[in-house]
Amino acid sequence: MIDNFSLKPMILVIPVLLALVFIELGFAYLKGRKVYNFQDSITSINIGLLSQFVNSTGAVFGAVMYALIEARYGTFEWSTASPFTWIFALLLYDFLYYWVHRTGHMVNIFWAAHITHHSSEEFNLSTAMRQASTGFYFKWVFYLPLAVLGIPVEVYVIVGLVDLLYQFWVHTRLIGRLGFLEWFLVTPSNHRVHHGQNDYCIDRNFGGIFCLWDRLFGTYADEREEEPIVYGIRKPLESWSPVWSNLHYYKTLWLKVKNARSWREGLMFIVAEPDWSPADTENTSTKSPMVDSYQKHRSHAPTSIRLSGIATTLVALTLLILYLGTRDQIPLARQLIFVAIVIGLFAGIGKVWSLEKFQAPQHD
Ligand SMILES: [Zn+2]
Ligand SMILES: [Zn+2]
Repeated sequence: MIDNFSLKPMILVIPVLLALVFIELGFAYLKGRKVYNFQDSITSINIGLLSQFVNSTGAVFGAVMYALIEARYGTFEWSTASPFTWIFALLLYDFLYYWVHRTGHMVNIFWAAHITHHSSEEFNLSTAMRQASTGFYFKWVFYLPLAVLGIPVEVYVIVGLVDLLYQFWVHTRLIGRLGFLEWFLVTPSNHRVHHGQNDYCIDRNFGGIFCLWDRLFGTYADEREEEPIVYGIRKPLESWSPVWSNLHYYKTLWLKVKNARSWREGLMFIVAEPDWSPADTENTSTKSPMVDSYQKHRSHAPTSIRLSGIATTLVALTLLILYLGTRDQIPLARQLIFVAIVIGLFAGIGKVWSLEKFQAPQHD
């Protein structure tokens, strides 16, 4: 297995991201700020590792479809040696990302995937790693205008990686407002608003690298100093399971569809906005939370929990590096079996952490 190992960008990127998490943790400690919670951060990191297992396999499908459509319908020739190709592709990718992301919030079935990223009640660099494992099946469709324009698949994949990695650093509470950059870039302040569950934060700031799209399409909101942000989702996840965090809203949706009174109502639950409800029933969406009274999900973290969390992360990280480095040579069926085993590992740790003896609430 090791003989066939080939270095992939993510194998180098993931340790750097983890190091940055520790650096932020150190800065927060020096500043006397509590922006991390152990179980939340380990869960976020494990969700990120899980998404790499699933997406590195699943995203191949999207890239293959993109390449086929580009080869068949690509209109123009683009030189990968020209900086213009890369700048244009990045700008257009970021514009399309805005719509992928906005749709991820506005269409229930897509929100079922994207909600994973928003399920943390903390906001720090580990939150950035909380990426969904189930969005790969639809996202590539939004980027097909790039394929139709003839942008080569390698450019599409690389600008997609750049767009994703840019968004890492904006998940922090330790950087304030950044002057004129706030006008056109997505910044920590801009993205804090996006992760808020306060009324003024809902469905705001969908940008990836540039917030120009939000300004252009009326979804921009400035952070308000006088109203501290409560992070997370209004129907809290209340789980440390990396697997359940990816699936819980699909169950909510399934129950809504199953109990729908007509096929039209069932369809609306899938394609309408997340707080949609039939006209003759009560809308159950909750009110803007207050930062002083909001109770975050907390549980005991004895040494056994801490060690099991760290051990799971280290085992998963080692397996992921081996998997990413050798996946190209593994038949698809074996890849799927391997990913299924990893999902089982993460589901197992989620179960252990959900045991009743660890669930007594513990406040900061
Ligand atoms: Zn979002
Ligand atoms: Zn985010």
